[in-house]
Amino acid sequence: MAAEIPHPKMQILHGIPASGGIAIGKGFFLSRALPRSVHSTVSREKLDEEVAAFHRALARSKEQLNAIRDSVRDPESDHYQILTVHLALLDDSMVVDQTVRLIRENQYKADWAFNKVLQNLLESFHRIEDPYLRERANDVRQIGHRVLENLAGNPVDSIASIKEPVVVIAHDLSPADTAQILNSSVLGFATDVGSKTSHTAITARSLGIPAVVGLEKVTEEYVPGDGVILDGEAGVVILRPTPEKVREYQDKRKAYGHKIRDLAKFARLPAITRDNKTLKLHANIEFPEETDIALRSGADGIGLYRTEFLFLNRKDLPSEEEHYQTYKLVAERFGQHPVTIRTFDLGGDKFASQIELADEMNPAMGLRAIRFCLKERDIFKAQLRAILRASVHGKVRMMFPMISGIGELRSALAVVEEAKAELKKRRQPYDKEIQIGIMVEIPSAAVVADLLAREVKFFSIGTNDLIQYALAIDRINEHVSYLYEPLHPAILRLIRRIVEAGHDAGIPVSMCGEMAGEPLYSYLLLGFGLDELSMNATAIPRVKRIIRKSNAYEAKEFASSMLLHGMAVDIERGLRKKMDDLFPDEKF
Ligand code: PEP
Ligand code: MG
Repeated sequence: MAAEIPHPKMQILHGIPASGGIAIGKGFFLSRALPRSVHSTVSREKLDEEVAAFHRALARSKEQLNAIRDSVRDPESDHYQILTVHLALLDDSMVVDQTVRLIRENQYKADWAFNKVLQNLLESFHRIEDPYLRERANDVRQIGHRVLENLAGNPVDSIASIKEPVVVIAHDLSPADTAQILNSSVLGFATDVGSKTSHTAITARSLGIPAVVGLEKVTEEYVPGDGVILDGEAGVVILRPTPEKVREYQDKRKAYGHKIRDLAKFARLPAITRDNKTLKLHANIEFPEETDIALRSGADGIGLYRTEFLFLNRKDLPSEEEHYQTYKLVAERFGQHPVTIRTFDLGGDKFASQIELADEMNPAMGLRAIRFCLKERDIFKAQLRAILRASVHGKVRMMFPMISGIGELRSALAVVEEAKAELKKRRQPYDKEIQIGIMVEIPSAAVVADLLAREVKFFSIGTNDLIQYALAIDRINEHVSYLYEPLHPAILRLIRRIVEAGHDAGIPVSMCGEMAGEPLYSYLLLGFGLDELSMNATAIPRVKRIIRKSNAYEAKEFASSMLLHGMAVDIERGLRKKMDDLFPDEKF
């Protein structure tokens, strides 16, 4: 008697939490690997038939992609554009002609011929250093998968065809897949690859679907038919959960639902303290698609729009018109609430493949952000004109990153004047009262904040970089991450100094680094007198709840007392104790 194969046991995988929430259900494996083809040939008489079959598979693939693209109504959206690229690949004469030649000359069967062409293409992508082009390999694989499945007469699994509630398991999801999630019954998804800012993660967040990405081997470990639990907040995926685990997570799901409903009530309320001090809570966005979730979370505006994302994942530079259309969309959505557009911050760890940046020993301190803009004025000015033009469609504010002192600020303002003059000449309108501010994220700017405050309309403290430069700790180096201390007395003194300098000059001071969205710090930041906090949209309701339960006067006293400590650990201990005492229902 054959030994029974034991069913694999429950398995817990850890990945990157991409979108909060808990999903419990059956798994659905969405294969996006190229189906296996074997070397096979056909007789001479069958060659015409083979070529015709290949063209039929191409036509069918085009039909399917066209239908998916039509379901994405906004031609400006990333989805639509990427699907257009996929469609163009199906018409690529090199791919089509080479496949037909291999069929006719080598008598290959169509799938083998097409597979050969794809493999050659994928290999050449591997050798390319340009990350943009390397990423395009994924497009080729996705298209290849579709054509080969159509050639074999297999149905191409699609999210639209999923009729029951399932947790999707995939190596990666293509834009064609994510475009279909909105009206599907998908409960959540788990992928091998991806990061917090990958396309899939962003879509999940904006649709409010739980997701865990970067699991590395979820597709390897998943067995068809498995039950799956997905915890998008903890970044955990459990395959083949025991009944006890399912019960445990059903309770967690219920508690999560209550928490979200409770928090949603706060989204609509103002962030006003018990003694009537109002704080503005703004959202940070990277893509215009995130405006929906920002509005739903109760954002009073956009405090940081990282426009460099417009430059990523593409081969050409965005045109002035494209900048303008994108900013206009966001400005209109927010009406009279401010939308703070930061001029692009490329360089450092954010690079764009279409701009030749020199290899630098020390990119974080190199030619990045405003320094790069002042060198490449045409690229800079195109963006400035677009921001100015968009300013008539809402309440747009403009902000420069990485300003180190007065000289640099004045140079940037001079380019804005040139951009305005050009628009006047073109008779294109812009808001004459547009507010221009700076990020204070370089220690030198913090030290001369009193001088800078006289020449701008607002400050926004970029703690991610301010901490990196003030403490000399590379923000992306995991070996020194233990030294990255937002509560270091030097950082708190810098924050206080910047706020005081801003207020002495009568301008508002915001904070838009990650520190602003961390509930543990909300009370302390209120105490330091910040006027606005800008954060990941989903953090807004929780920070609002804390602010609404706080007393600004007492928070100020407390913040001053924390400045008497000499070490971050002591400040953290004092802060945690205070927060636990004041907000016993919150977990920090
Ligand atoms: C910062 O430095 O704190 C910031 C908000 O900007 P970025 O993270 O884009 O550098
Ligand atoms: Mg920064």
